[in-house]
Amino acid sequence: MQTLGDIGELAAIERITRGLPKGQKVIVGPGDDCAVVRPAENASEDLVLTSDPVVAGVHFDTDAAPEAVGHKAIGRALSDIAAMGGEPRWALVDVVAPASTPVSIVDGLYAGMGALASDRGLAIVGGDMAEGPVVEIHVFAIGAVPVGRALLRSGASLGDRLFATGALGGSRLGRHLRVEPRLEEGCFLRDWATAMIDISDGLASDLHHLTDMSKLGCDLNLDHIPISDAARRLEGEEAPLDHALYDGEDFELLFTVPQSRCEPFVAAWRAAFELPCADIGCMTSEPGIVRCLHEDGAESTLRRNGYAHF
Ligand SMILES: [Mg+2]
Repeated sequence: MQTLGDIGELAAIERITRGLPKGQKVIVGPGDDCAVVRPAENASEDLVLTSDPVVAGVHFDTDAAPEAVGHKAIGRALSDIAAMGGEPRWALVDVVAPASTPVSIVDGLYAGMGALASDRGLAIVGGDMAEGPVVEIHVFAIGAVPVGRALLRSGASLGDRLFATGALGGSRLGRHLRVEPRLEEGCFLRDWATAMIDISDGLASDLHHLTDMSKLGCDLNLDHIPISDAARRLEGEEAPLDHALYDGEDFELLFTVPQSRCEPFVAAWRAAFELPCADIGCMTSEPGIVRCLHEDGAESTLRRNGYAHF
């Protein structure tokens, strides 16, 4: 018997999406950070739709503060909206929990969700509850972008420069619970970026999603990759750079800007944000191939696997 673990997440998604019913006014279906739909022919805005589960024992430790878990659940969905250049609008939340769950935990989850949602202009407009073996939160969120302006993974062109916000790696030291969705930055990038994705599974994995969808490759300058302090603090077999490449749950933005616009882009970014933004590579013509350029001039090919869901 073949299991999800045997075939892996990507094959599972491909298998599922093959048979999905198609609708009208679907601008982008499965395969991006959000789906994009146009509510009416003459609409001024497209809607971007995403859903995301967080599950006890998988996405958070059972002893994590419920407020932090609620924050993370909303933050993950907001990060996907940010990756489309969207502005948050509405969300539905389902909570699954055992009957033995203290009510104070549920209160804490909703306090964490409510605080981040209201801070970022996301209205929680409903949802459902069910009994289940462990605590799970499922967030379905909707954002909006001016019509035709959603930033897709597929939009990069040959020669575009690749940028990443913030610093990467080591999220397991706590940052994964303190997701800071890059919403303002995402909206700002509507005027600059050609393609965008948020880094949830790890730079290596998410960069491959971007190159695959754009049908391009990438030359990645390893010494330009911003490495977080947490990644440097993590001791073990892996180097800090490997944490930055493979850990995941950074919830930073990874995007491309045309070479000819990089100089004004960098100046505009610096004027708008304190958050660093690093130029880490260049889009190349060989589809799906990410070549690592090492500081000493050596080259290698980047392996794909960041966080795998099965
Ligand atoms: Mg995403």
